[in-house]
Amino acid sequence: MNSRYDLIILGSGSTAFAAALRATNYGARVLMFEKSVLGGTCINWGCIPSKTLIHAALFRHEAHLGSTIGVDSDDGNHPIDAERLFRHREKVVTDLRQERYLNVLGNMKGLELIKGTARFIDARTVECDDHIYRSERVLIAVGGTPRIPNIPGMEKCSYYTSRSALLMKELPASLVIIGGGVIAVELGQMYHRLGCRITILEHGPCLLPNIEPELSTSLEKILTREGITVVTNVKICSLDRLGNLNVVYADVDERRHKFTCEKLLLAVGTAPATAGIGLETTGVTLDEKGFIVTDRNMCTTADGIWAAGDVVGKMMIATVGAREGIVAVDDMFNRGCGCTMDYLLAPMAIFTDPEVAMVGHSEESARQAGFDCIVNCMPVSAIPKAHVIGQTDGVIKMIADRVTGRILGVHLVCHRGADMINEAALALHMRATVTDIATTMHVYPSIGEGLKLCAQGFNRDISLLSCCAE
Ligand SMILES: Cc1cc2nc3c(=O)[nH]c(=O)nc-3n(C[C@H](O)[C@H](O)[C@H](O)COP(=O)(O)OP(=O)(O)OC[C@H]3O[C@@H](n4cnc5c(N)ncnc54)[C@H](O)[C@@H]3O)c2cc1C
Repeated sequence: MNSRYDLIILGSGSTAFAAALRATNYGARVLMFEKSVLGGTCINWGCIPSKTLIHAALFRHEAHLGSTIGVDSDDGNHPIDAERLFRHREKVVTDLRQERYLNVLGNMKGLELIKGTARFIDARTVECDDHIYRSERVLIAVGGTPRIPNIPGMEKCSYYTSRSALLMKELPASLVIIGGGVIAVELGQMYHRLGCRITILEHGPCLLPNIEPELSTSLEKILTREGITVVTNVKICSLDRLGNLNVVYADVDERRHKFTCEKLLLAVGTAPATAGIGLETTGVTLDEKGFIVTDRNMCTTADGIWAAGDVVGKMMIATVGAREGIVAVDDMFNRGCGCTMDYLLAPMAIFTDPEVAMVGHSEESARQAGFDCIVNCMPVSAIPKAHVIGQTDGVIKMIADRVTGRILGVHLVCHRGADMINEAALALHMRATVTDIATTMHVYPSIGEGLKLCAQGFNRDISLLSCCAE
């Protein structure tokens, strides 16, 4: 048995690496296990390949936009060389994996990696390839896998998941996406812009049912106008195969419909990767969906075991997983330091164009938390720069406390919204008020001015303001 480690980490994704870096800063000897490709979802089949392809698709879309204002390229069709495009995606992933994971691993003193599947034997002991390892502290950072729904007829069809959809080597002519969440809208718009015919089938009454309604309404209009078919209130009944085509039978508002496509993408969420890792030997509790239950320090219900990242299922984004990993390690080696998770300060973005981004309370959660809220929601078309760049779609919604003016939440659909939301996150972190934002000079013309205009809009009619007026 090998027990010379201060910390064992299951997984080598972005969560595990952030935690390992923090632990080695404390001088800890860390052992990390990885059963698949180093770096996990984000680098290999998540953030990086998706954003690389989304950006490539944006080039093509913007070339089309250029041609509408007299800036034409030689060939108005902007043909796609799929082989080169997918080689480019591969290169970005490989280079970043080398730089951000392999090189970091090589330079991290105190970290050892074992390639193989790790499994608990008890709360302090892990087995991998017939070797036994022991530590007083274990961090579970095994992430998640795409959820596969059980639909009659599935065995007849070929389908992509979010993972395989990013590894495809040829562009299909048509794609039906089951699910209308983040993956569906990001990949749906991306593949649409690369020339696929896209249909999104969403079970709920709108796309992205968990975001502010003004945002989902705005995004749905934008995607539909761009040519994506969005069908809501869909109940998937069965799947079939007709020749080379996949067929989806579904009830929409209680009437049976048939959707055919070359390829099918299942985008109905992420399941925690907890199966087969021996959790039953540990005392770790799972919630009703199978995610690991933790407190605000990322402690599980088993003494000596912490969990972080997608496997806890709170906010399944890389930044939050990394912060959870750091909080867990601080709790292990510096208990009482007061470092706890605050999900309300975590900004997140959905990389459609325009981007959807948010931080802090929704209007409903602010009211539920007992705030007397004031809300301002303004169209992106109120931002002068939006007209300059022809990106006037979207909305910005700000929620503040009526008494103090403190900003409680910012939610937006806006070109470059993922960049803008960082200012809002800082405002929440600093407990800034509407007046703080309204009186901060912003660059003119810039899309970022939208936050200032939205803050100004709490007290005055911004349609009566000249450019840069305060
Ligand atoms: C298509 C897509 C796009 C995304 N885009 C973004 C984005 O733009 N921004 C963002 O912030 N987030 C994005 N995310 C989410 C982000 O990728 C995840 O939140 C993040 O990667 C989770 O990290 P993790 O370390 O918790 O899990 P993972 O990265 O999944 O790592 C877990 C690792 O553990 C390994 N493992 C599992 N079980 C064992 C075992 N028993 N033994 C050894 N190893 C094991 C797995 O092989 C895996 O490598 C995206 C996700 C997807 C799917």
